[in-house]
Amino acid sequence: MHISEILGQGNPTFSFEFFPPANPEAADRLFETIRELEELSPAFVSVTYGAGGGTRELTHDLVVRLKTTTTLDPIPHLTCVCHSEAEIAEILEKFAAAGVSNILALGGDPPRSMPGYDRANDAFQHASDLVGFVRNFAPQSGKKPNGDRGFGIGVAGFPEGHPATPNRLQEMDYLKEKIDAGADYICTQLFFDNYDFYDFRDRCRLAGIDVPIIAGIMPVTSTTGMRRMAELSGGSRFPAKLLRALDRGGDDAEALKQIGIHYATEQCAGLLDQDVDGLHFYTLNRSDATRQIYRSLGLLAGADI
Ligand SMILES: Cc1cc2nc3c(=O)[nH]c(=O)nc-3n(C[C@H](O)[C@H](O)[C@H](O)COP(=O)(O)OP(=O)(O)OC[C@H]3O[C@@H](n4cnc5c(N)ncnc54)[C@H](O)[C@@H]3O)c2cc1C
Repeated sequence: MHISEILGQGNPTFSFEFFPPANPEAADRLFETIRELEELSPAFVSVTYGAGGGTRELTHDLVVRLKTTTTLDPIPHLTCVCHSEAEIAEILEKFAAAGVSNILALGGDPPRSMPGYDRANDAFQHASDLVGFVRNFAPQSGKKPNGDRGFGIGVAGFPEGHPATPNRLQEMDYLKEKIDAGADYICTQLFFDNYDFYDFRDRCRLAGIDVPIIAGIMPVTSTTGMRRMAELSGGSRFPAKLLRALDRGGDDAEALKQIGIHYATEQCAGLLDQDVDGLHFYTLNRSDATRQIYRSLGLLAGADI
């Protein structure tokens, strides 16, 4: 289903992100997670795209497997980094053939495996260029996704500020370019202070960006995980309130996990109170934190699971 129809149903959406498994054992574990999360009937799930080429095929394989063996509606991430126009067209062709309806179009992180890679080689310099290409893409088969509409398109938003754009006014101009190029919704980077999200949403509206904005939620489940998150999300702020709570947990792994889940649950409850368009859970390919948050929010009320 086109993402505008999914998001246009009047209620906040709940969705999950997975990353492609690196080997058959990880794939088996992921599909156990997926079976558990499928019971929560998410509006859609998304699958990350590894920059640098190593996991390109894995994203496609996971998306097709989700499409053919589950009831889930997968949205593949796609990045500009390390791609020619012909390669992007080939990927889109395959997704169209697999019945994929939507794409999350990103700039992409520069590949670690290719130090010194020159982004000037890429056909698309910015996510807005990729959005425009996906918007106008017509598969050779002649069968466009979503009838004549083509792919629905999402883009990234950064409530705490884009890590690569120090100028916050220019950042909004670039975000607006992505929407004007044809994006249908924004999914945000993780954040730990809802104020950052509300302020970002207000700034978007002031900039004339009126597409739905889905909030990215990542429960902290360990201090090691938090350190990794800080590295990957580039610039995320970890509020003292969260750090103090984790500090109280000491080295009790189960306590730390419960503290992180409780914190994320409070965040979600606040966002739902403030009419968020959707909550997108960065699951890290695990189900327990998301399921606990669902339960605490009352979203499983009456369900036999
Ligand atoms: C929800 C979400 C999912 C993500 N999934 C992935 C994933 O699967 N794989 C992955 O590799 N990364 C992923 N990322 C990370 C993301 O790709 C990186 O943060 C990347 O650095 C920025 O992507 P972008 O889409 O914002 O790029 P862009 O919008 O292209 O921005 C990249 C840089 O270009 C600048 N810029 C943008 N437009 C212009 C313009 N018109 N003129 C001049 N400069 C401009 C921006 O200021 C910024 O510095 C994800 C991020 C989020 C929030």
